Amino acid sequence: MKIETQEYKNWSLQEDENNILWLGLNVANVEVNVLSFSVLQELEDIIEKIKADPRYCGIVFISNKASDFIAGADIKEITAITDVNDAIFHMRKTQTLFSQIEALPMPVVAAIDGFCLGGGTELALACHYRLASDERYTKIGLPEVKIGIHPGFGGSVRALRLLGVMQGMAFVLEGRNLDARQAKQLGLVDDVMPLRELRRAAIYTIQNKPKVKKSGLLHQIIDIHFVRNIVGALFKKKLSAKVKIEHYPAPYAVIDNWINVGSLEERAFATEAESVGYLLSTPTCRNLLRVFSLEGKLKAMGKASEFKVRHIHIVGAGVMGGDIAAWCAVHGLRVTLQDPSSKALGSAAARTYELAKKRLKQKHLIQAAMDRLYPDPTGQGIAQAEIILEAAVENLALKQDIFKQIEAKARPDALFATNTSSLPLADIASVLTQPQRLVGLHFFNPVAYMPLVEVVKGKHNDKTITAYAASFVKQIKKLPLLVEDAPGFLVNQIIGGYFAEGFKALCAGETMQDIDAAGRRLGMPMGPLELADQVGLDVCLAVSEHLLAGVADAAQTVLRDKVNQGKLGRKTQQGFYEYAKGKPIRVKFSSDQQKVIALERQLFLGMLNRALLCLDESIVNTVDLVDAGVIFGIGFPPFQGGILQYARTMNKQNLVQELAEYRQMSIQEIEATSAWKQLW
Ligand code: NAD
Repeated sequence: MKIETQEYKNWSLQEDENNILWLGLNVANVEVNVLSFSVLQELEDIIEKIKADPRYCGIVFISNKASDFIAGADIKEITAITDVNDAIFHMRKTQTLFSQIEALPMPVVAAIDGFCLGGGTELALACHYRLASDERYTKIGLPEVKIGIHPGFGGSVRALRLLGVMQGMAFVLEGRNLDARQAKQLGLVDDVMPLRELRRAAIYTIQNKPKVKKSGLLHQIIDIHFVRNIVGALFKKKLSAKVKIEHYPAPYAVIDNWINVGSLEERAFATEAESVGYLLSTPTCRNLLRVFSLEGKLKAMGKASEFKVRHIHIVGAGVMGGDIAAWCAVHGLRVTLQDPSSKALGSAAARTYELAKKRLKQKHLIQAAMDRLYPDPTGQGIAQAEIILEAAVENLALKQDIFKQIEAKARPDALFATNTSSLPLADIASVLTQPQRLVGLHFFNPVAYMPLVEVVKGKHNDKTITAYAASFVKQIKKLPLLVEDAPGFLVNQIIGGYFAEGFKALCAGETMQDIDAAGRRLGMPMGPLELADQVGLDVCLAVSEHLLAGVADAAQTVLRDKVNQGKLGRKTQQGFYEYAKGKPIRVKFSSDQQKVIALERQLFLGMLNRALLCLDESIVNTVDLVDAGVIFGIGFPPFQGGILQYARTMNKQNLVQELAEYRQMSIQEIEATSAWKQLW
């Protein structure tokens, strides 16, 4: 019986002259290949037919989409599964399918070009051989822990069987995506080659059947029950230094599953499926799935225009301008960087080199990135760039002056952008003859780690301009969030509440250690004073008037004092903290937990209050966008799903009362606000 190709919506089947069956995936009506229910259903049917007619001398899984193998399961479908038993059923069904592929009598090859993630990697692990193209876009990984689950199609079992316990466990727990060479080094793929040779290599593999790789004796010894108990405890200890079980249960579940049943026996699959079924119902997972969908919403904001940039000119090479220049050069743009300070230009070049080394790894790519960065103290690049971004010091008159000069020299179609943290866009644009050309592009510090960029729309802008700006943000692989012009926009308004409460507590005599411990307890990456050091105390002082409402005077006294002593924070190695080798020297955190808990509540209320005000002022219009802003802009803990989602988990009556006291308003007044109504 010959398998009829036209039967399938997502799979194409081609038998070649060597009797090899090529299973090409091109999921209909979507950008990337995902293992949706219908894709898996079709594959089940195909494998049944192959089993009934084993005349093929080999099977190759390939993708018919450019630069994408299989990006994982269909997250929308997974999110829609709310019943634990339904989830277990789906995992078990897919595990059975993958085991059937593994048991096929002919060699089965995964020929990977592009993203091979999650379920895609699990399918590849069930194949007998894995080959990967060495293209830069090829990435292989099991990132499930990032959405609060772990592999459920047999991946956490097969990864350990293939790579051995130590390496396999690290691969699953870290959820890191590897490039093809790293995957080869780890033993995840058998070989790596240029894309043009991938098909030929698959044929060669099928015809020559090299020995199938398996983990060795050591793996079998470590997988013995009493050894698992000891090694598993060590895994957990190491993991607990990074994440807490109550925040991120999934990686702990991977370790527990292995301790309980190991990876060698068949029942490991059933345990894996049950564990994913349970994890899918946890609040962490639901929140992380929501964060995943928020990320999709922001990405969509960058798709409204085809605007692409080849050359960016950046004015100001300090903390932000220098790092934005580095990021853009590493992401393929020609960058001219202007600053009167040659020291700032030199430091930006050094940081570009460090970033390129970390991200691009290969010498010729690092060199190419360095060649794209041009120190330009006199602003020659202004006349050629498609976008000109100002990131000079936070001073209105200076920024206005810079934009007057830019407008005189720039191409008539160039887009202007400012990275101001707190100055109203309209005030900067007021000196331009064409103010409609200026948008805000507000990057976050540290640029390489914070994915968000606020695209600020002034009253003078139309939608086309902000769509161009959002498209540029997407081009450089950041997440654009469209916000209305207001001092501090969205994210700094909210973080302003965090800073304000931190400074208020400091002025009231609380210790730095307690205040920062409270911020970390809330799940923030840094406490408010550590964060102020990171941002720069001079920048904090400059924005304090706009962002520290209620405590501006007291905070300014503290900040001015530090700035006058030249203690500007991390960049001068002295701020609230002293720094040694780039790390703050701390006194031990307080053991007064009650005090820290009270401070944590204050920091939370400070942010929540501002978040609700932003909704009321329509800086963004939805709870989702507020939460996306705090997660991707300031690192609010993703497992909480964002500040407003976190608030929703609390007792409504208690919260409204606390907020009323905080704002010195009546409960009825709070309840009448549109933000409060949207929240519930
Ligand atoms: P910074 O002090 O580190 O750098 C400012 C740079 O501007 C300096 O290198 C200075 O030499 C240069 N400069 C001064 N006058 C100039 C001129 N006329 N032309 C060109 N360059 C000039 O400051 P920063 O932290 O990089 O902040 C820059 C901007 O980004 C500010 O508007 C700030 O509000 C905003 N911002 C800062 C952060 C942060 O965390 N630091 C975050 C987001 C936005």
